Amino acid sequence: MARYRDSVCRFCRRETTKLFLKGDRCFSDKCSVERRNYPPGQHGQSRAKHTDYGVQLREKQKVRRIYGLLEKQFRNYAHLAEQRRGVTGENLLLLLESRLDNIVYRMGFASSRSEARQLVNHGHFLVNGRKVDIASFLTKPGMVVEVKEKSKKLKSVEDSMSAVGRRPVPSWFEVDAENFKGTIKGVPTREELPPTIREKLIVEFYSK
Ligand code: SF4
Repeated sequence: MARYRDSVCRFCRRETTKLFLKGDRCFSDKCSVERRNYPPGQHGQSRAKHTDYGVQLREKQKVRRIYGLLEKQFRNYAHLAEQRRGVTGENLLLLLESRLDNIVYRMGFASSRSEARQLVNHGHFLVNGRKVDIASFLTKPGMVVEVKEKSKKLKSVEDSMSAVGRRPVPSWFEVDAENFKGTIKGVPTREELPPTIREKLIVEFYSK
């Protein structure tokens, strides 16, 4: 699969907001957005005109980068969200949030989504007692996600778990940090999903 290998902090600077792509560094004063809160490049500090299309595009790019997806994957989620009952924008967010790599990150087993994806791909997690090594696996309420016995001693997992108290765990999870296990209690409401995302703009972007 194609992967972006340049500095991901550029993404945050491009969107002039923190996307929290680098774990603990994002909460420190080393964060690039804290230091240079303007887009990268020669014309980064010049004033840009924002058309409706431009605003929609930036919101789409922002969310795509938060969840670490390629354009094609993200567009597929947008189409899937459209086919489901309910509000398309919320459906899209629910689909993104239910990916296994996101759940692993949200539960605190990894410090970033990219780290969570790597851990999942390497087969360190069980879902309802069975190994799942597909980051895009869509979880459902009631499912139990846990770190495999052998993987509990992984430094990255241990470090991340020690930070569980410092990072808020969403209310739609129940995390048993001692046993490296978490349960998805239900489907989150819009209020429980990231408030800074304007999903309506993304729906408008893809409806053109
Ligand atoms: Fe973004 Fe984190 Fe880098 Fe800050 S440290 S710019 S929040 S990825």
